[in-house]
Amino acid sequence: MNSNDQSVSSLSAVPRELRVRDVMSATISCVVPAFNEATNLGVLLPRLQSVLAQTGASWEIVVVDDGSRDNTSQLMGSWTANPGFRYVQLSRNFGKEPAITAGIEAAIGDVVVILDADLQHPPELLSKMIERWAVGVDMVYAVRANRDDESFTKRLGTRVFYSLLKGARGVRVPPHAGDFRLMDRSVVDALLRLPERNRFMKGLYAWVGFNSEPIEYVPDARQYGESRFGILKLLRLALTGLTAFTTWPLRAVSLFGFLVSMCSFTYGLYIVIEYLLFANPVDGWPTIVTILLFFSGINLISLGIVGEYIAGIFDEVKGRPLYLVRQTQGRPYTQGAEHG
Ligand code: UDP
Ligand code: MG
Repeated sequence: MNSNDQSVSSLSAVPRELRVRDVMSATISCVVPAFNEATNLGVLLPRLQSVLAQTGASWEIVVVDDGSRDNTSQLMGSWTANPGFRYVQLSRNFGKEPAITAGIEAAIGDVVVILDADLQHPPELLSKMIERWAVGVDMVYAVRANRDDESFTKRLGTRVFYSLLKGARGVRVPPHAGDFRLMDRSVVDALLRLPERNRFMKGLYAWVGFNSEPIEYVPDARQYGESRFGILKLLRLALTGLTAFTTWPLRAVSLFGFLVSMCSFTYGLYIVIEYLLFANPVDGWPTIVTILLFFSGINLISLGIVGEYIAGIFDEVKGRPLYLVRQTQGRPYTQGAEHG
């Protein structure tokens, strides 16, 4: 039995007078990005359905198929015959972040929950999140109680990344939080107003602000298949996140250039004085070569950093849509309506 199970059906635990939002009359949307997750979806959907049914609200589960090549579309074809299950198929694999954007754009709920298809995000946490929403919290984000399941290098990389990201002014990205979260309609609408192509979601969630609150969970192991985020993909994500939310690397380059000029000026002065005072014909082929190579390297790195920002601008300027939809199916489940 897992530790999140006790949270099921704890909705009634909240005193009525504390509630500012009515769960019964709300519609809850669950957005599930899925890339080749047919086997996982087969387990997740029934579990999610029973959690949602217990809330007494209207609900929908929006599965965003991010260009899967397995039998996700056949599977969803049969699920969408039931009210509550919706299927949005993208025209190809666009990546998790565009898939999430597609999902929250399609969602109609007063409250939207994002969770992975691979069962690492326990659906049972949903009722706890909804409880917090009912008392007025706009965004409830799940934070991992531990990262024991991750390798040492991944944990180290994560720590370095979050400390570099602290340079983002006014945006405090909470570490250990992912996309698993509940958002009120106001937060979703705010997110959808952000026009950028480069969707570093963790940064965007933090940028929009609102009244948010963490909730702890223990991530389960992936049910079937393996993670799509290898070390290279994570590095790329980190780089886009840093360049989209901070400009300190650019400033660091100028600062470094300034320091180097000061040093070389002092050194030049020293050579002239040495020649004038001691008639010392300064020889230094090795010094010159070493310094030249070192600074060619620094030059290229600086150019690369500037290039990252220009590449970002290039992507934004093209203004292509974030994703394309191939087909949509299904409809929400409305509490109290006739379903035949
Ligand atoms: N995913 C997606 N598009 C992608 C890669 C992943 O929609 O290009 C989905 C995937 O199906 C899963 C979620 O994003 O539901 C998280 O992916 P994964 O488990 O591979 O990442 P991790 O849990 O290791 O961060
Ligand atoms: Mg996963």
